[in-house]
Amino acid sequence: YYEQLQQSERLKMVGQLTAAVAHEIRNPITVVRGFLQLFKEDDSFDDSKKSKFNLMIDELNTVEQIISQFLTLSKPNGDQRLEKVDVKDVLQSVTGLLHSYAMLSDNQIDIKVEEDCFISINKIEFKQLLINIIKNALEASDVGKSVSVIANRNNNFIEIMITDEGSGMSEAEVKSLGTPFYSLKSNGTGLGLMICFNIVEKYGGEIYYNSSKGKGTTVTIRFLSESGGIYND
Ligand code: ADP
Ligand code: MG
Repeated sequence: YYEQLQQSERLKMVGQLTAAVAHEIRNPITVVRGFLQLFKEDDSFDDSKKSKFNLMIDELNTVEQIISQFLTLSKPNGDQRLEKVDVKDVLQSVTGLLHSYAMLSDNQIDIKVEEDCFISINKIEFKQLLINIIKNALEASDVGKSVSVIANRNNNFIEIMITDEGSGMSEAEVKSLGTPFYSLKSNGTGLGLMICFNIVEKYGGEIYYNSSKGKGTTVTIRFLSESGGIYND
């Protein structure tokens, strides 16, 4: 019990630290973007330079998006509303967001979602969960490979499966998932899955990793179906 308490205190601290770091990064970005905006409107720069300023502004916006979506742990006072969420809608929006990220390494995201998959969850956290898992799948994938995302209704549950043909993991590596700061990436934070596991647990869901070194990984996420139940269908 004591250990659990300690762990949850530690997680809270990590969350606060992360939020603080994200905040500190946002301020300089705002300053740089402000200058770029000024340059963009300054006629002493030619059009070719101005279009590059636009690109730079876009990239900064992407950085901001990444910060909010990958690093912000749900704040206690933030939007905690539960909604009946359409899994198809969210998956389409998430894969849309990750499209340009996938294109960088010529990866594809294929989604196959059954109609009428609803779960009761906070939409922002659900998005955060899916973005983290799909992003990991993309990062594990070699150039040109696809990541598949399948969502089905299975009795009273909605099952979402994210499969990559990437590097895969050993049993010991799978066991380490979700440990704060565990990352094998040179630019990783090792916070993504910790956040994901927290979200899944918070909404009474389940998450499983099935991985084989050198072959790839399937992540299965399961939530109680909102409209499901023995009295429906
Ligand atoms: P980060 O992505 O910042 O490294 P995560 O918590 O998201 O942090 O992931 C932790 C580690 O788990 C990754 O560094 C990677 O080694 C491993 N991992 C997660 N998902 C996959 C996957 N689909 N395939 C292979 N390794 C993975
Ligand atoms: Mg990650």
